[in-house]
Amino acid sequence: MPSLFLDAPARQALWKRVFEIVERYAVTLEAERVTPEQMDPQKIRALLAPLDFDVPLDPQAALDLAARGLQQEQLHVPHPRYFGLFNPAPTTMSIAADTLVAAFNPQLAAWAHSPFGVEVEEHLIRSFGERFGYARSEIDGTFTSCGSEANHTAMLCALTRSFPHFAARGLRALPSQPVLYASSEGHHSLPKAACMCGLGNEALRWVPVDDSLKMDLGALRAQIAQDRRAGLAPFLAVGTAGTTNAGVIDPLGEIAEVAAEEGLWFHVDAAWGGAAALVEELRPVLSGIERADSITFDAHKWLSVPVAAGLYLSRHPRLLSRTFHVSAVYVPKDGAESAVTNPLSHSITWSRRFTGLKVFLSLVVAGWEGYAKTIRDMAGLGELLRRELQKAGWTIRNQTPLPVVCFTDGTEPNGNQAGYLEAVRQQVVDSGKAWISTTRVGRDLPVLRACITNYRTRAEDIRILVDTLEWARQRVGANAATVEAPRRE
Ligand SMILES: *Cc1c(COP(=O)(O)O)cnc(C)c1O
Repeated sequence: MPSLFLDAPARQALWKRVFEIVERYAVTLEAERVTPEQMDPQKIRALLAPLDFDVPLDPQAALDLAARGLQQEQLHVPHPRYFGLFNPAPTTMSIAADTLVAAFNPQLAAWAHSPFGVEVEEHLIRSFGERFGYARSEIDGTFTSCGSEANHTAMLCALTRSFPHFAARGLRALPSQPVLYASSEGHHSLPKAACMCGLGNEALRWVPVDDSLKMDLGALRAQIAQDRRAGLAPFLAVGTAGTTNAGVIDPLGEIAEVAAEEGLWFHVDAAWGGAAALVEELRPVLSGIERADSITFDAHKWLSVPVAAGLYLSRHPRLLSRTFHVSAVYVPKDGAESAVTNPLSHSITWSRRFTGLKVFLSLVVAGWEGYAKTIRDMAGLGELLRRELQKAGWTIRNQTPLPVVCFTDGTEPNGNQAGYLEAVRQQVVDSGKAWISTTRVGRDLPVLRACITNYRTRAEDIRILVDTLEWARQRVGANAATVEAPRRE
């Protein structure tokens, strides 16, 4: 099959071209638009339509087609002025790592297939567990495909621990309906996981937040008491360390206290904000996380590796194996079996990519200090953005030491209205100069949202964003009569 394994000259030409493309992207990205001029499904479908796979394409032509699509037909998340959701510019070492992983194709389902891969991941799990304050001897965990899978894993482990017959007999054997708690600013992978666990998403109680957008502890206690009176079985409390909307950190120590009193599993969803643990002066904002029974942390967010690399960490050794244990006759065994972990019976997934390598190579080259510096710098840019926005008359609507800024327009009578803010966002995005989003926080307050999560973002980029917002506000103001409030889906 020559077209599956190209000959040496064709391979060399192809690698050369791949590296030219990758390098050119790294160098030219900043000067480009963040978004394409238009995002048109018809245009992309027309490009793909002639490719019916009956006539094979030349490898270089195929590569160029993909590169052109990636260059021209998408939002450039690695751009320093992408102030969006928690998507980073990937580290150079992580790009190299993913290349190696693709070429060697290690299979991390069973230790015996990739001892190096499994041991690297275990080494990382212990290292990150210690950073979050777990005792080394207790740390267990697994890499996951993403944070959602880590939250799902937490829910399954909590069910297994709380209801000893859950694994064998399922929820139907339980005398009462298990319920769990997260703040109303918690992530929507939680109801999804509740659904996938068979709990149903109504089992998730969204606990109201206080004015600072943190979980209201009185409301948490009241809801637990009410649920107990109703004959339900509370089993899990989730604290969020860095909410997706507003970067707010729940009172983790206090939730740990409630969970301990009530006998609940305490999980911390630190998918993005967990990286604060790497910075000495930010570490205290996560205080209490060391008491968590389990933690979700995403390396593809603030650790800047390509999508996706989730981590599930726990201080309950053996519980993952109890939750996911299987024995299959076709799985290779060897003498070292008892001393090692087989990821397939330690996690949700079976076949596994070597996800940890991109984290390992990035961390071993940057060091903890290298990461601490970039995260500290980004937090500083968040402060700069808050100051500059306030100077320009915007009103800041969230409080967090992390670089997520939610704001409304204090200079406009309509400045709190969803339609107005959406129109401003649209102008900014259409300009190609920056990417920001809108969302709603607390009791449904519409806001503009800008987040710094890219190590390439500089103070100059913050100034361009603030200038672009000023320009956008004027255009929207001038068009006010004709701007129709766009509906939010
Ligand atoms: C991103 C995020 C998730 C989901 O993680 P994925 O890796 O996107 O699945 C969960 N919780 C929080 C707080 C997040 O920010």
